[in-house]
Amino acid sequence: MENDDTGITRRVGPDAPAVSASSAPGRPVRLIGMETARHDWAGMRCGCGGSAAHLAGDLSAVAAAGSGAEPDVGLEGHVWSPVTLWEPAPAVVSVALAALADDVTPVAREWFLRQLQYLVTGEGTDPASARRGTDLPERCRELAAQGLWLLYAEVMANRSLGAVGSAFEIITVLEPDRGRLERVREIAADWLPVCCRTGLCDEG
Ligand SMILES: [Zn+2]
Ligand SMILES: [Zn+2]
Repeated sequence: MENDDTGITRRVGPDAPAVSASSAPGRPVRLIGMETARHDWAGMRCGCGGSAAHLAGDLSAVAAAGSGAEPDVGLEGHVWSPVTLWEPAPAVVSVALAALADDVTPVAREWFLRQLQYLVTGEGTDPASARRGTDLPERCRELAAQGLWLLYAEVMANRSLGAVGSAFEIITVLEPDRGRLERVREIAADWLPVCCRTGLCDEG
């Protein structure tokens, strides 16, 4: 009888899914863990030629990064390259937005913002996805545009020059309302990187 309330604890054991929404006992459930667990990574073909299953672990490792050095995880050749995006790209966009909505460390935040920037500026679709009629750069931009206000919040929060610059440059790609973009450029002028303040880096 006195053990009635331990049932929940017991269920979080060997039966827990491989990619758990909560990263450790006692830790709150995080959006990034929830979003990472939603995607069928193993069913996607990675740019490296194998299954994309390894990306779930890679993204979780970055999300769990402490406040020290930049996480030693790269997605080039797996999700993006300067000319091609691969099948997992839209899923990574969703995970990156979830990371921005979460309370991740500054290095993880900058890492996810940079990946998002590579993905929204992608130019091509891998041949297998293209044969299925998917335009990966377009799909990534559509998804990222759903997080436009997260990106504006990132600019306004002024956490670091890197985060502000990446967020603003992503907005220049996505924002259909150029008047709003210019207004924020004025408001944030004091802390925007020079390229963003002058419009030198605008992609839109
Ligand atoms: Zn890979
Ligand atoms: Zn810039």
